[in-house]
Amino acid sequence: MVDFILHPKRELSLLRRHPWVFSNAIARMVGMPYPGDTVRLLSDKGVVLGYGSFSPLSQIQVRMWTFDGRESVDEALIERLVAESVGRRAVLFAEDFTDALRLINAEADGIPGCVVDKYGDWLVCSFTSAGAEQWKLEIVGALRRLLPSCKGVYERSDADARSREGLEPCVGTLAGEEPPERIEIREGGCRFLVDVRAGHKTGFYLDQRENRAKVAAYANGAEVLNAFSYTGGFGIAALAAGAASVTHVDLSEPALEIAKANTERNAICTMGKSEFICGNVFEVLRKFRDQGRSFDLIILDPPKFVTSKAALQKASRGYKDINLLGIKLLRPGGTLATFSCSERMSPDFFRTVVMEAALDAKRDLQIISHLQQAQDHPEGIFFPEGLYLKGLLCRA
Ligand code: SAH
Repeated sequence: MVDFILHPKRELSLLRRHPWVFSNAIARMVGMPYPGDTVRLLSDKGVVLGYGSFSPLSQIQVRMWTFDGRESVDEALIERLVAESVGRRAVLFAEDFTDALRLINAEADGIPGCVVDKYGDWLVCSFTSAGAEQWKLEIVGALRRLLPSCKGVYERSDADARSREGLEPCVGTLAGEEPPERIEIREGGCRFLVDVRAGHKTGFYLDQRENRAKVAAYANGAEVLNAFSYTGGFGIAALAAGAASVTHVDLSEPALEIAKANTERNAICTMGKSEFICGNVFEVLRKFRDQGRSFDLIILDPPKFVTSKAALQKASRGYKDINLLGIKLLRPGGTLATFSCSERMSPDFFRTVVMEAALDAKRDLQIISHLQQAQDHPEGIFFPEGLYLKGLLCRA
């Protein structure tokens, strides 16, 4: 076992159970581990702080498995962590409400770099750290034993984070049968098709589940703009809740194809009420403004604009522009649901950006509700980085 000895005082974050050890905290290593190997962390005074996996190419050099020096990192520990993570979900949702949920949410569930989502009878995994990669087969084995009725496990380890760890993208069936081209899932009264092979993330934005329901509560009779619609989630939930019409806007043609199929699939939605625009939201919203179009309910759910600390200021201009355009299209008394999924943008900063947009739009907004990622995407109390999705539900 290789020992990593930290600089003086750098043990503090581990004593606070933060799961990441940055390269500048490490004074020296005794031995030469391979990527993904388990290493032991010690303070400069020789106190054992726990065990983690080594990621030589990442700034986050070690991701912790345990803060207990007496515990060993082995198959039994992995099995226990997976079982606990899956077990915690048992109380979250009734089977008849949804058959799609996140079973493992990486660091927040004590399994750094590993995400597992369940879509009906299928599991979709993403492994984005050297440590998660090392224990991949054990994690999959534990999942198969815990969920014997699952037909197959598919891997979507193609996120950018993987390349920062020096890992090649890995996509394909890991165990059991190959999933169908599109998996149908249920969420509340709606059904959605999920493309686990080519869809975003593992195929669907499960993290917006609760927000889709909260936003739909304002949809009855509304003309809805679903900007950055992806496969239609918010708009279809709004139609199911009685919206008069929905305009979906997204850059991705394949995503809109699924949005159309989803619309047809939900009997409550008549195709006449839906409009699908393939285009850049920034341009489409400007065009709507020039045409004098307006909406009762607007959803703004852009992709992650902030990819690094340095990009925060530039990205905040993107968020402000999109919110400014959105607010201008909002009818008096209308509802705006606006989101940021950049973990580097704090809830306070996001609120300031929306405030500045309202100021420039010369519109008053009330915040009705603060929104965040769904319950099956928990945020660890010792790991604030785990809160990435935040939103504001506002009334004009
Ligand atoms: N609201 C969706 C998730 C949105 S993800 C849901 O609940 O399922 C962000 C989406 O924005 C992606 O589908 C991506 O294709 C789209 N996108 C990214 N940049 C865009 C742009 N400039 N204009 C339009 N769509 C964009």
